[in-house]
Amino acid sequence: MKIAVFSTKSYDRQFLEAANSSPQHELVFFEPRLNRNTAILAAGFPAVCVFVHDLVDAPTLKILASGGTRLIALRCAGFNNVDLQAAADLGIKVVRVPAYSPYGVAEHAVGLILSLNRKIHHAYNRVRESNFSLSGLLGFNLNGRTVGIIGTGRIGLILGQIMKGFGCNILAYDVYRNAELEKLGGKYVELPELFANSDIISLHCPLMPETHHLINAESIAQMKPRVMLINTSRGALIDTQAVIDGLKSHKIGFLGVDVYEQESELFFEDLSGEIIQDDVFLRLTTFPNVLITGHQAFFTEEALYNIAETTFANIADIEQGRACANEISYQPEIPAKAQVS
Ligand code: NAD
Repeated sequence: MKIAVFSTKSYDRQFLEAANSSPQHELVFFEPRLNRNTAILAAGFPAVCVFVHDLVDAPTLKILASGGTRLIALRCAGFNNVDLQAAADLGIKVVRVPAYSPYGVAEHAVGLILSLNRKIHHAYNRVRESNFSLSGLLGFNLNGRTVGIIGTGRIGLILGQIMKGFGCNILAYDVYRNAELEKLGGKYVELPELFANSDIISLHCPLMPETHHLINAESIAQMKPRVMLINTSRGALIDTQAVIDGLKSHKIGFLGVDVYEQESELFFEDLSGEIIQDDVFLRLTTFPNVLITGHQAFFTEEALYNIAETTFANIADIEQGRACANEISYQPEIPAKAQVS
């Protein structure tokens, strides 16, 4: 099949070309994001392959359909950027990669916890400047501390397993209980109890209307003083202004985030030398106890390999008229805003 690949970075190209070994498909790589202005590039391509910040809204889909596109292959799990109803109306199928890096994301969350606690990012810079003073680098033992995990699906469970290995107590909140987490000794509690008793709180639930700004002024007020907050899930789970207030009042002792509510304006691009206009983001970067990474938690060799293999398996299923387990069909009762990766 002729596939137009949007938002292409060098690493996407490397892994997609390696997986397209025969080669089965004719891949054409485009660097721009897909949106209504760039959709014309896909004229004559039956399949279009996109990532998290491509905007596959109704006007874009209309242009794609008139150019002959019949399949949107997402290289990610989340599909909040696709208008599923418009795709269904235009006869365009949508497939995705539901899980590609649960270990990678959980391990990145642990990386943020360890770096923030032991201030490894500060120590790295100090040593390079021949400053071997330990002042300001005091950390705490993870052993015996309580970790609150919100969302105990694939990633939340793995984080629980890793933190159990550090000797932490695990508190959990989810709309469904995960028996594996309970087997580990994790204890399900309601959110107020988790907020009140956790030294570290890590978010692993999807972004939906029910979880939007789950971390806000009211929930922060219930937390332990100097709590560590980790978000590798979705930016809008956190009310950023409330977290900034919590950092300023010292209620929040540490913040580690791989995602940010307005990240589509910033992340995945090299903006060095440009003037960043987002003052809220810039305020976050000024705190010594805040560590931000640019949506890289998934970014492991294994994930890129899995994304490429699954994407081509999905496309082959649709091309050959087989049922595809990773096809997303439009279901009006499922909130359109649900985001899973
Ligand atoms: P998953 O579907 O396996 O687990 C999500 C869990 O959240 C489920 O157990 C579900 O029951 C629970 N949940 C749903 N609604 C909830 C609510 N209102 N309150 C609490 N829990 C709720 O998903 P996963 O693979 O573990 O991914 C978790 C999140 O990680 C995703 O939603 C995605 O946003 C994020 N993610 C980030 C990256 C990255 O690179 N930073 C990569 C992949 C996924």
